[in-house]
Amino acid sequence: MAEPGGLNGWGGRLQDALAAAAIDPLQIDTVLLTHAHADHIGGLAGPLATPHFKNVQRLFVHRDELAFWTDEPIHAAAPDAFKPYFELAKNAFSAYDGRLVPFHHEDILPGIQAVPLPGHTPGHTGFLLNDDGDALLIWGDIVHFPHIQVERPQVTIAFDGEPARAASTRKQLLDRVATERLIVSGMHFNAPATGRIVREGASYRLSYDA
Ligand SMILES: [Zn+2]
Repeated sequence: MAEPGGLNGWGGRLQDALAAAAIDPLQIDTVLLTHAHADHIGGLAGPLATPHFKNVQRLFVHRDELAFWTDEPIHAAAPDAFKPYFELAKNAFSAYDGRLVPFHHEDILPGIQAVPLPGHTPGHTGFLLNDDGDALLIWGDIVHFPHIQVERPQVTIAFDGEPARAASTRKQLLDRVATERLIVSGMHFNAPATGRIVREGASYRLSYDA
């Protein structure tokens, strides 16, 4: 368990990607987690709860997300194929023990609001970043296949823990994002990594930024 990149190598190229973006990992002092699936936290820690980001002082995670992944009975009852996800999450949370900031409110930092997006995981959360009128929503795993799920929000995938709730959250959020003309980004976007949601009749379309 917990090789560099954790499970399936997820997160294993994070350091290279940061270097390519000229971001010094030692300058990162705050991390916001959308949720604790392995492909979103695999780059946070190495074996034996070794943090990859030495200067992180605060790691924000929704309290329902932290509670779920650290719940021993839920872990014990999980299918064998899913148990490594719990081990990876617990390893990452242990790596930042004492620096975890479990939240349940929306105003978490100046200019940053948490947006509860339950259904994918219990504490799945988006983050709305405001900057002089321009607002960017990081929406986590609202979609895994934007080219399918934006047009058809009812389509869920196996990783949506509560499929009906995930679909309902997705539909509501697409409506809000289209109405408020928010810039959106997620971890399963194609390049370019940002776009806007355009309403088309009763459905939606993702218009990637040029
Ligand atoms: Zn996920």
